[in-house]
Amino acid sequence: MTTDWQTYIDKAERTHRLTEAELTALLAEPAAEETMAAAANRVRAAFVGDAVHLRGLIEFSSFCRRNCHYCGLRQENKQAGRYRLAPEEIVALAEKAKGYGYHTVVLQSGEDTWFTAKRLADIVTAIKRLDVAVTLSVGERPLADYRAWREAGADRFLLRIETTDRALYERLHPGMDFDERRRCLRDLKSLGYEVGTGCLVGLPGQTVESLARDVLFFQSIDADMVGIGPLIPNDDMPLGGTAPGDMGLVRRLVAAIRLLLPEANIPATTAMETLSPGARERILQSGANVVMPNVTEGEARQLYALYPGKACVADTPEECRDCMTLRIRALGRSIGTDKGFRRHRAPEAT
Ligand code: SAM
Ligand code: SF4
Repeated sequence: MTTDWQTYIDKAERTHRLTEAELTALLAEPAAEETMAAAANRVRAAFVGDAVHLRGLIEFSSFCRRNCHYCGLRQENKQAGRYRLAPEEIVALAEKAKGYGYHTVVLQSGEDTWFTAKRLADIVTAIKRLDVAVTLSVGERPLADYRAWREAGADRFLLRIETTDRALYERLHPGMDFDERRRCLRDLKSLGYEVGTGCLVGLPGQTVESLARDVLFFQSIDADMVGIGPLIPNDDMPLGGTAPGDMGLVRRLVAAIRLLLPEANIPATTAMETLSPGARERILQSGANVVMPNVTEGEARQLYALYPGKACVADTPEECRDCMTLRIRALGRSIGTDKGFRRHRAPEAT
């Protein structure tokens, strides 16, 4: 007998469309996981191929003016060790990332206003001379800043909506405004960035219906990239004491995102690996096609502590590159040899 969820998975694989009720039913059904992951893996192979794109991640500042309840970098966390790399140190790490063979550099930080529009634009300009794609992940800024960085050559921007549940969003992000978050995403799209967004799984009070609406939101803004993080609680944070995100639900969510946004770039994230060793491989075989190995070095690599126990912190960037390369090849997948921009195309015939 065909169950409802099998019908929904077939429909999603064929049409890349589901209603909120259908998506909710799939996300709520642990028994659907393997079938969803297999369908998402086929859609991934057909639309974006077997290559896994490696993006070298530079965590360049742990200063943050925000107070997101879940994050170790929140301003009010007086235990957090703070550092800020100098512009020339950031460019030097980008050169090393290029040397490791990465074709994209991701510049990520807390919301650190020391990096004015001009300072960060100069860094982007210097890195673009290396012939790599540049992704920024530095939080909310005015349109003028986003424009300056785009004009300097930045290609992509990551800004997770975190949750589309407005009340939950405003509860977890004191002093922040859900409409302002959406304004940022709209401005980034209008400037021609490839825009990445995503959500956290396991926020207290979050429902599967709300996660289903998150997926429909990613589809509605035609997100070029979608990153999912299982919440990893910090003991001394306002959210300390909550359970970590459910990795089964994370896997169903990644699969649902691949089924509904077949061309998107979808990372297997460090938070997934931290919660469940081997998760990167499982998620790469459930719809994902991107990994972001950390190229930050030394003390900064330890101090960029969003959550406890972060995977691979003790490894060197070279070790990370070698380990990820082996793990990806062991899956029968290849390493991307180009900048890995989002493709806009029909699926390959299978
Ligand atoms: N400050 C920028 C921002 O918030 O967009 C970029 C850096 S921020 C550290 C990157 C992402 O880390 C956030 O979008 C959030 O989803 C994730 N994050 C923060 N704390 C986390 C936690 N405890 N568990 C899992 N992910 C977390
Ligand atoms: Fe700052 Fe980003 Fe952490 Fe929020 S999630 S506290 S904006 S670093």
